[in-house]
Amino acid sequence: MRETDFEKLYDVVVLGAGTAGAAAALAAADCGARVLAVEQFGSAGGSSSLGLVTPLMSPGIRNKPQCSYLGLEIIRRLTREGAADGEHKCFFDPMMLSMVLEEMLSERGVTMLYHTMVTGAEVSDGRITGIRVSNASGTGILRASRAYIDATGDAAVCRLAGLPTRHGDEEAHRNQPCSLRYLIGGVDPDRFWQFLCEKRGEPGKPRPENFDGAATLGQGSWALNDFFREAVERGDLAKEDALYWQFFTVPGRRGVLAFNCPEFFDIEDITDADRQSEVQVQGKLRILRHLRFYRKYLPGFEEAYVDQIASMVGIREGRRAETEYMLTAEDAYGWRKFDDAVAQSNYPIDIHGRTLRNQDLVRREDEPRKYYEIPFRCLQVRGTDNLLAAGRNIGTDFVAQSSVRIMPTCRALGEAAGIAAALGLRDGRAVREEMIRRGAEFC
Ligand SMILES: Cc1cc2nc3c(=O)[nH]c(=O)nc-3n(C[C@H](O)[C@H](O)[C@H](O)COP(=O)(O)OP(=O)(O)OC[C@H]3O[C@@H](n4cnc5c(N)ncnc54)[C@H](O)[C@@H]3O)c2cc1C
Repeated sequence: MRETDFEKLYDVVVLGAGTAGAAAALAAADCGARVLAVEQFGSAGGSSSLGLVTPLMSPGIRNKPQCSYLGLEIIRRLTREGAADGEHKCFFDPMMLSMVLEEMLSERGVTMLYHTMVTGAEVSDGRITGIRVSNASGTGILRASRAYIDATGDAAVCRLAGLPTRHGDEEAHRNQPCSLRYLIGGVDPDRFWQFLCEKRGEPGKPRPENFDGAATLGQGSWALNDFFREAVERGDLAKEDALYWQFFTVPGRRGVLAFNCPEFFDIEDITDADRQSEVQVQGKLRILRHLRFYRKYLPGFEEAYVDQIASMVGIREGRRAETEYMLTAEDAYGWRKFDDAVAQSNYPIDIHGRTLRNQDLVRREDEPRKYYEIPFRCLQVRGTDNLLAAGRNIGTDFVAQSSVRIMPTCRALGEAAGIAAALGLRDGRAVREEMIRRGAEFC
């Protein structure tokens, strides 16, 4: 029997074509590398397309610099298609994003290997020598002459290579809550907006092009909280259906709303396949209950239907790589700067369902530049010299990851990894210079 059915050699091999992986592949191609991007599903974008995650959160820095030239290009292209509404906290259509990414990847000549699962990694003398994959053609081995990028979101390559990884919080190793996102179509936005305004005590307020709303049975003071509490008391929703409920309109799709729920607060290890399957099954049952509830109670939802359910479980935090530097909560909260920074952010620490001991973290209030930086060393996987991590699985502690994970930052990290891999750069300063030369904005 043959050991492998196929073998491929490229300059740079990117594992996972999600938010960070797509940016890594594009940036490496821009730097002249022959790039192969491997993805288990049939589309680029990962959480931001197949996971139906929208909107793009803003890193929250004054004057709003975007540390990713590719992030800027993606948003401009989406806006041109009428599928995004701005450059900062930006509502966008996840399906249009997947097409825009596909267009950009094709234009740059990136080879996509879809429907392909990374199943193993060969390591010799501290170097990755090949990535084992499985797909409809059989089993294969992929080799990179310059570097490999682990953009799987959950450090799958690091784990398969036998390198140490971390997951969950430092105390119990429990992951952040996850969600199964969905889109509802057939909504009358004017009627629903008027209902929201009445609940918010602002009847008759004109409807903006895009709007959002939320409710929770826990902390928070959203106007719809009591409405959801009553639905639970009447038995029209289960308690878990209403613990966290949030929606956003989708630019270019009238009558479609994107929901950032249902959310699962009690999953300990979301990298476990059984747990992921449970979320898909239970999530659909909850979405069905949501739909029945909307049709019965929400003005404007009388003809609502389920437009789309995410094929990927919405994983906020799974596994993380161990890297040359591990960004900490103190770094993020204290607005720490680094010489080899490749991304900047002031997005808050955002852990769902938990109260933080913020008193343990000290803000440097004398610091005039109110953002923290992510050093390139957080991408350099410890124990290898040709594997970089990019995206939400870079080297951080649990709390810092909750801020790092937003899409603009993941794109910047992917871009940095792609440039470094293609040009053989090991110094973050040189990587940042190249990002800036190509249009990335840093403070
Ligand atoms: C529910 C939820 C809501 C969020 N809300 C927001 C928000 O409003 N705004 C915001 O900016 N950010 C938000 N985020 C965060 C953000 O979407 C993610 O952190 C970010 O997109 C992660 O990017 P990534 O590239 O690291 O991972 P992903 O985009 O998930 O990409 C990983 C890719 O690797 C592939 N992959 C994994 N394992 C393998 C394997 N073994 N073989 C082959 N391919 C593999 C996956 O299929 C996927 O395409 C949210 C996240 C979640 C889960």
